Amino acid sequence: MSTTTQATAVTTIKHFINGAETTGDSSNTQPVYNPATGEVTANLALASARDLEATVVAARAAADSWGDASIAKRTAVLFKFRELLAANTDELARIVTSEHGKVLSDAAGEIGRGLEVVEYACGISQSLTGEYSDQVSTGIDVFSFRQPLGVVAGITPFNFPVMVPLWMAPVAIAAGNAFILKPSERDPSAAVFMARLFKEAGLPDGVFQVLHGGKETVDGLLHHPLIDGISFVGSTPIAKYVHETATANGKRVQALGGAKNHAVIMPDADMELAADHLTAAAFGSAGQRCMAISVAVAVGPAADVLVDKLVARAKDIKVSHGLDAEADMGPVITPASKTRIEKIVGEAQEAGAAIIVDGRDLVVADHENGFFVGPTIIDKVKTEMTAYTEEVFGPVLAVVRVNTLAEAIEVVNANPYGNGTAIFTSNGADARTYMRRVHVGMVGVNIPLPVPVAWHSFGGWKNSLFGEHHIYGADGVRFYTRGKAVTQRWPEHKEESNASFAFPSN
Ligand code: NAD
Repeated sequence: MSTTTQATAVTTIKHFINGAETTGDSSNTQPVYNPATGEVTANLALASARDLEATVVAARAAADSWGDASIAKRTAVLFKFRELLAANTDELARIVTSEHGKVLSDAAGEIGRGLEVVEYACGISQSLTGEYSDQVSTGIDVFSFRQPLGVVAGITPFNFPVMVPLWMAPVAIAAGNAFILKPSERDPSAAVFMARLFKEAGLPDGVFQVLHGGKETVDGLLHHPLIDGISFVGSTPIAKYVHETATANGKRVQALGGAKNHAVIMPDADMELAADHLTAAAFGSAGQRCMAISVAVAVGPAADVLVDKLVARAKDIKVSHGLDAEADMGPVITPASKTRIEKIVGEAQEAGAAIIVDGRDLVVADHENGFFVGPTIIDKVKTEMTAYTEEVFGPVLAVVRVNTLAEAIEVVNANPYGNGTAIFTSNGADARTYMRRVHVGMVGVNIPLPVPVAWHSFGGWKNSLFGEHHIYGADGVRFYTRGKAVTQRWPEHKEESNASFAFPSN
């Protein structure tokens, strides 16, 4: 497969407002890059305040009729969308690779995980089943059911331009809401592509819209009185800000933040399996996954065996353009990200850690202007070093050595993040102890990236999630709906009224 980029005129990536693509009202744009080549591939239209208003007003109007459409009608659109998404996976994966940089198979993988949520949403009738109590008092029944929130917005990060929007939109839409997506400015084309598929699937105009922009656009959404709920996924400082601002404005908010995911490797683990999985989980997508393993906590004297295996595997990784069929790993997202990652590695070195595989200053032949950082392993990391305290979000694995499982749990629980973690062991009792004691939202046992399937919700603890609801699955349905309880009486014949000034009792 060719990885050379044709010299083409730079296009403008548009908003998708009320069923149509538009550059909107503003002439402000910002460049979008191919991180493997360093070239500008498009200019992104940035929303004005008027564009935001038009989007929200269209969503509000669409929410009323869509929320009133039958479940059968809503899910019919999702079934069709699912077919279109599956049929267009290759094209969409190429779009993701060209703006994000991840290898093509990884891009297809994230689309597959997004598809799972679409499939879950196709069966939303199960999750919207209400409850009924017959004859709670003479001639009186009570039932409860859930209704859509109305207009909800999703603000998403660069690292999963398809999967993370699909953690939100299918569930929100199936539940009867209108959804506004504000995708990352760095890889926005996938969002517009999905908007076209939703339209082709028969979704009414205004139910799924895409609005591009940065902080100003996000702030506009967080303050807009016609928006009822905000789903956010991104870094911790912004997640915290979004949660505080939107809740202060009376909105329901789920804000998923950053991560520092530890894998604990016990001395009795299958070291070949652990090294294979740790390598893939640390360096896949150049370490730019919210569930990437960035810290290996090696327990006991077997640490040396593990580290040797990790080094051998890291040196074997082929870093190249994501469209190169041989590539295991692509570039990082921006030059600023590359500089930041390399600075953190340098700081660890100065603080006395051992850089046993060094990916700094990597140059990839034929892609000299790409934003590449090679796989890097830092051994003997101490928990006060920035390589440990910061979310590096690059292909860097820190190795922390401890003596016991109890010490490992102490390290993980002292960390302010709590997104994902894993333990590699052949001892069921140790696995159970770890799984129960660790203060982390998602745990893998001999599984490095324990991203729950679509019907188990996804969410971290501590600084990895602000808000009460995890995302997708049953929690997603609860987030995008609110409960209503009805107490009803249908007198069979003229009854004597028992109205009373006393509080009604049964
Ligand atoms: P980011 O926080 O920079 O951006 C996320 C979104 O917030 C983008 O749409 C962006 O436009 C917007 N934004 C950025 N700065 C803002 C500001 N000052 N005010 C308002 N909005 C702003 O995150 P990113 O770099 O795109 O993505 C990487 C981060 O996302 C990592 O920290 C990663 O761990 C996290 N992430 C977490 C999960 C999870 O499930 N917990 C999943 C994916 C990514």
